[in-house]
Amino acid sequence: MSDTDPTYRRYSDGDNEPYDWNSDVINQGESYLCPTYIQRTPPCQNACPSGHDIRGWLSIVRGLDKPQADKPWQQYAFERMTQANPFPSIMGRVCPAPCQGGCNRNSLDGFVGINSIEQYIGDWARENNLAFDKPEAESGKRVAIIGGGPAGLAAALFLRRLGHNSTIFEAHDALGGQMVFGIPGYRIPRDVLEDEIQRILDLGGIEVQLNTRVGDNVKVETLEHDYDAIFWSVGTVIGKLLRVEGGEAPNCIDGMTFLRSFNDGSLKYLDGRILVIGGGDTAMDVAAVAKRIGEVAELDHPERPEAVFDGSGSQPEDRAALRTDSDCWLVYRRPIEKAPCTKHELEACITEGVEIHDSLAPLEVILDEQGRASALKVQPVDWSSGKMEPNGEPFEIECALIVAATGQTGDYDGIDGIANEWNQIDADRTMQVKGKQGHFVAGDAIDPHLLTTAIGQASVAVQGIDKYLSGVSLDDRPKVEGHHFDLLQELDEKSLSPDEYNHGSTWGTSSAKWSVHNFENRAEADVINTNALYTGHFDYEKVNAREEIDINVSNVLGSMIERFNGLTQDSAVSEAKRCMSCGFCFECDNCVIYCPQDAVTRVKKDERVMGRYVETDYAKCVGCHICKEVCPTGYIEMGLGQY
Ligand code: SF4
Ligand code: SF4
Repeated sequence: MSDTDPTYRRYSDGDNEPYDWNSDVINQGESYLCPTYIQRTPPCQNACPSGHDIRGWLSIVRGLDKPQADKPWQQYAFERMTQANPFPSIMGRVCPAPCQGGCNRNSLDGFVGINSIEQYIGDWARENNLAFDKPEAESGKRVAIIGGGPAGLAAALFLRRLGHNSTIFEAHDALGGQMVFGIPGYRIPRDVLEDEIQRILDLGGIEVQLNTRVGDNVKVETLEHDYDAIFWSVGTVIGKLLRVEGGEAPNCIDGMTFLRSFNDGSLKYLDGRILVIGGGDTAMDVAAVAKRIGEVAELDHPERPEAVFDGSGSQPEDRAALRTDSDCWLVYRRPIEKAPCTKHELEACITEGVEIHDSLAPLEVILDEQGRASALKVQPVDWSSGKMEPNGEPFEIECALIVAATGQTGDYDGIDGIANEWNQIDADRTMQVKGKQGHFVAGDAIDPHLLTTAIGQASVAVQGIDKYLSGVSLDDRPKVEGHHFDLLQELDEKSLSPDEYNHGSTWGTSSAKWSVHNFENRAEADVINTNALYTGHFDYEKVNAREEIDINVSNVLGSMIERFNGLTQDSAVSEAKRCMSCGFCFECDNCVIYCPQDAVTRVKKDERVMGRYVETDYAKCVGCHICKEVCPTGYIEMGLGQY
């Protein structure tokens, strides 16, 4: 398909019968209902585990919501974005973007490229050395953060914004968690990672203790005594081995160990066919790394990967020059379409030469006379009945290394009373550890998921910690979590806050200045879906995609560059303009133009902010509902007079 062919068609082939439009034509009628303006949560935000105000920062990028004074719009967008997530450059690169899956524009011509715009803003912020604002006041409280991965670092920032200090206890020799030990550098460039971490530390009030494992070097009881609250962000650092006979052979390892050895530079090449077991993003990372590092033939033990993993050997740098293409198979027990990995990671692996062998269940690791794995015995299976059933004879696949990327678990050695029987931490909706007052938790420690999930949970946990430190009871959470646009804050930023209410009697409230008239914020309760929009307003718009770098089977060996280039400023702005602003006014003027009574007008220019662009003269409105029908964003509800 050419890139100018629309993917959205209003009609299907065969839709050629005349239709009686009369019943659908909007006739001017009358009712007692007048328009009121309702803010709802767009599905992109609802699907984003960090709860980003995506619609809000897209409206900044497209030039609708303008910054004050001479602040660059990129900085204004960065400030809005990082309210929810302090890693825009990283998220823009590696987040599988569930927000895009939720985007209402999927019903038209495809989702808005949210994370490519996020990357553009994050990269602009790095190039322009943007910093976070320091807190206005200090609380004098201190929080112990156990684990310096994405959740721990995000919590340190969110706590700092509230004036709380923290100490991060990190068991390893670097901050970053999965971002540094798990995800390879060609997906998260290390200079990007270092800059985004350093920006948090530059806030001050965040002490870091590396190589300090709670449970070994520090006791939990000591932290309980020395700190006002404890935040657990320990992640899952132990990969699971293949649970079949022979799965503990020295050349059968887990995906975490493999990636950690690659990321710390000790694993430089393989020594024959590698079988990667699993279908998640860790499996894709292992397979893609295997294609990049290649193999060197006939290694002796000290140079073999397993010697690197257990520290009994090493791989000299100069031998890497002998590398040739590696033979990498991805073995998955379900059909590959069912794999939970990010689809474009799978596609990239296939392009780079990873062989996919799906619907194969591992049965046994076949050992040679030295006790090393020489093959994996697998059972072909069929899932068509919904259950896994044998489908043919088992067979053996020869291999030199087996990497199980089938799950990981937490390390609670020396730590009592926190983890459950599955080595996970149970939390309530406020992210407080169940049965442990003053202990909060976020991230993979609860259940392994995305980086953005860990950060979203850290935000909720910090709100809980703040209440706990203030002696306020922890309320239940809203139905729709997120960093919602706040009209009152927007009015305040533009010096347009409503007047103080004088608590006196007022006759006729429409001109009183102590309230925001005919506006209701239902963001914490309602998500707006496509049916509530007037999608006929939107033309087909070509997606502004990032430029992909051609990394394929012929050039993948030794390639450590990123797989795509970021958007230019122009393409980021064009892409942001594809946003339909679901659930919030985007100043299209439809309601002003189509109102037959001239009842809807624009708010005076010097009183306008996002969300207060139009107003209705209720003396003129006859309740015809035409404005509601033509509002593309679903912002208008014929509610006034009803509620
Ligand atoms: S069109 Fe815009 S506001 Fe609507 S879901 Fe997509 S990104 Fe979000
Ligand atoms: S029709 Fe356009 S201008 Fe009127 S409320 Fe809806 S989005 Fe705003």
